[in-house]
Amino acid sequence: MLDDERGPLLRQALSRLDAAAAYLDLDQDVAEKLGAPRETLKARLLIRMDDGSRRAFTAWRCRYDDTRGPTKGGIRYHPASTMDEVEALAFWMTFKCAVMNLPYGGGKGAIRVDPHGLSRAELERLSRAYVQAFAGVIGPERDIPAPDVYTDAMVMGWMADEYGSLTGAPAPAVVTGKPVALGGSLGRGDATARGGWYLLRHLAARLGVEDQPGRVRRAIVQGYGNAGRHMARLLASDGWTIVGVSDSRGAVAAPGGIDFDALDAAKARGGVGLLEGPGVRRVDPDEILALDAELLVPAALEEMIHAGNVHLITAPVVLELANGPVTPEADEVLTARGITVLPDILANAGGVTVSYFEWVQNRQGWYWGEAEVHERLKAAMEREGDAIGDRVAALGIDWRTAAYVHGLARLADAIAAHGTQT
Ligand code: GLU
Repeated sequence: MLDDERGPLLRQALSRLDAAAAYLDLDQDVAEKLGAPRETLKARLLIRMDDGSRRAFTAWRCRYDDTRGPTKGGIRYHPASTMDEVEALAFWMTFKCAVMNLPYGGGKGAIRVDPHGLSRAELERLSRAYVQAFAGVIGPERDIPAPDVYTDAMVMGWMADEYGSLTGAPAPAVVTGKPVALGGSLGRGDATARGGWYLLRHLAARLGVEDQPGRVRRAIVQGYGNAGRHMARLLASDGWTIVGVSDSRGAVAAPGGIDFDALDAAKARGGVGLLEGPGVRRVDPDEILALDAELLVPAALEEMIHAGNVHLITAPVVLELANGPVTPEADEVLTARGITVLPDILANAGGVTVSYFEWVQNRQGWYWGEAEVHERLKAAMEREGDAIGDRVAALGIDWRTAAYVHGLARLADAIAAHGTQT
């Protein structure tokens, strides 16, 4: 195994695998196969800027494991992206797809760029350059990208279009999270949040956060991108009071709840920290963790909750809409304090689940109504949530370890079924 080539974030992610392996009788083949990515490609994307100059951007695509099917996972545009991060995210996708029983392996990609510093035309050229660079890797039966941090349906539309131009025929199933006008699925936009919301509603009684007359349920949402924004609204529609929100630039606390239209307007002006209004207080981003609440939803980036701030948290339930938001060290503290963490590979799997529905619709050329997407997503979240909950009860372990056991059992079965001579 190429131990020395794995970065710190991937090693940290892999420690979850070791914890889960203790509960299964695994063949050595499994650890050997899943211990490092199958392939990670790196490219230098050279694009023409609007002012006529040329600029280079570093990009990666990792196919972590394809035992269970074509690799699947988003592409992130972020100034701090690294190969280590891409590989850790691809590892998480491998488990997420196994947890949800989607016929996919795991992959991930990134471009190291601050997309806010680019014009729309530059962003389009960069997105098309990504597809040109990795055209030999991606494909509807091989590796299927999707949106992630700072990429959206518009970017996916450009990518699908570029792939179609390169291969000579439209191939909508090569990318998911596309605009509906280009074969995207209804219900993909808020699917990550909606999946987490269905899961929470289903498990509410078990977690002690069910709706009861006269009971106030308060939630903190860390991160106000696609996942956090939709989650805040879905929770509020269920009677939750959102008492704190943050984004990369600031945070606000509002014990009486937040006005979402005003919040969206503040976000458009430059960040949620610009929100003003009665009862709204601007705070440091970490301060929102300490607010009195029944639920904390990390929906930003990885490692946002760490040894240095985990002690602030008082909420009894943490639902991870971001990938890898809690470090293993902080996770241990939360578990020791009896805080239930619904882990990323289950809680944020709604996005890739509806991506799968989109891919199925593209391949069939038969499109579903939004209600059907919602119904199938709800059923999938509840089914796998129950199965993992059963493992929690049977083994007396935390939800994260149980989710890894659940995914690993499926991966091990597939690895064994591939035969022993390869
Ligand atoms: N980027 C999302 C995730 O981390 C979605 C991936 C997909 O739809 O393929 O789960």
